[in-house]
Formats: sequence, structure tokens, C-alpha cells
Amino acid sequence: MSPRLCSSGEPRLLLSFDDATADHACAARRVLDRLGARALFYAPSRKLERPGRLGAVELRGLESEGHRVGAHGASHCRLDLLSDCQLAAETAESRDALSCLLGRPVDDFAPPGGFAGARVEAAVRRAGFRTLRTLSWDYNRIWRPLHIEALPACRLLEGVAAETLFRGRSEEFLRLMYFGKNLLRGLGGAYFSLRSGAVRLEGRSETL
Ligand SMILES: [Zn+2]
Repeated sequence: MSPRLCSSGEPRLLLSFDDATADHACAARRVLDRLGARALFYAPSRKLERPGRLGAVELRGLESEGHRVGAHGASHCRLDLLSDCQLAAETAESRDALSCLLGRPVDDFAPPGGFAGARVEAAVRRAGFRTLRTLSWDYNRIWRPLHIEALPACRLLEGVAAETLFRGRSEEFLRLMYFGKNLLRGLGGAYFSLRSGAVRLEGRSETL
């Protein structure tokens, strides 16, 4: 969810859902209906029609209800690590597959994991997309050490241009950073749990 100001100065929210998981067509759709809100669903084209993922029927259904579908790469790999040739192939394939499925040109693109940069942006533009959505780090706070998407979510770097720091780094470097961050968080959590446990024990001994 990204709050932004539109040209008239009014605050606007963009609700977006990535990866075309099956829950988008049931749980997310129900909540959006209840709120009277519409959202943008970014779908990785090669993942569609697989178990646990949306297919053509669901995506067309979402669009018929006023939601919008955007591209999220073809194979859902990190685009910033690809060669120019592979990057062009990924963006073009996702554009063609979704345009064919929806019967209209697809304007919106979100790079998997939010890993963008000048090269990705240029490739997305060359492929004919009109918007590019990236992520603000610190979105994904779940402990998933093997998931690259959960990477540079680093509270320690708040106020620093984290995307600039991480752009172009190797996957191993990013995994190391992620591990370090979660290790610190884990130690902090353990410290506070122990401390609150000790406070509870002290309180109990006073009442006994
Ligand atoms: Zn994704």
C-alpha cells in the first residue's frame, strides 16, 4: 500500500497484490468488496494456472469487477541480476502473455522483489509498460532466510537510501545482510522476553 499525492494534492492510496496467489481471488477480493476498494494485482505469467495460483478465469473476473491486472515478470526471477538480453526477454514475455490473456495492452509492471534500478526501468519502458511499481524496504518482516524477496528489510538503515546501497549486490551479500538483521532482531526479542519474564517473576514473588 503506497500513499502518494496525486496532481491535485489529494492523498491517494494504491492497493496492490503480488504473485497471483489463489487467496487473491477469494480472501483479498472479499475484503476489497467490503471496503468498496479496487486494487492492482501483479501476476507473474509463468506461474499462472499452477496449483495455488490464479488462472486466466480469475484474472479476467477480477478485471470485470473493476480491479486491474499488471505484469510481474515471467519467471518471477530478480530482474536486476539478468543480462540485458534476458531482461528484455522477461519483460516482453510477461507483457505478451498477459496481454493475450486479458485481451488488452498491459500498462503496469512491478519487478519481483521490488529490485529495480535504471536498467530495469529502461527495459520496462522499452517493453511498452507505462508504470513501474517498486517497494519501500522494511515491508517484509517475516523470518524467511531463504527468500530473497524478504531481503533488505532493514530497520537499521532507515533514513538511508537502502535501495541504493543494495542495488547490484550479489544474492549472497543480501542473504548475509538479511541474516545479520534478523540475528539482531532475534537477540533483541530474546532480551525483552527474558526481561519481561523476570519482571513478572519479581511481581509474583512480591504478591506471595
Ligand atoms: Zn513477487
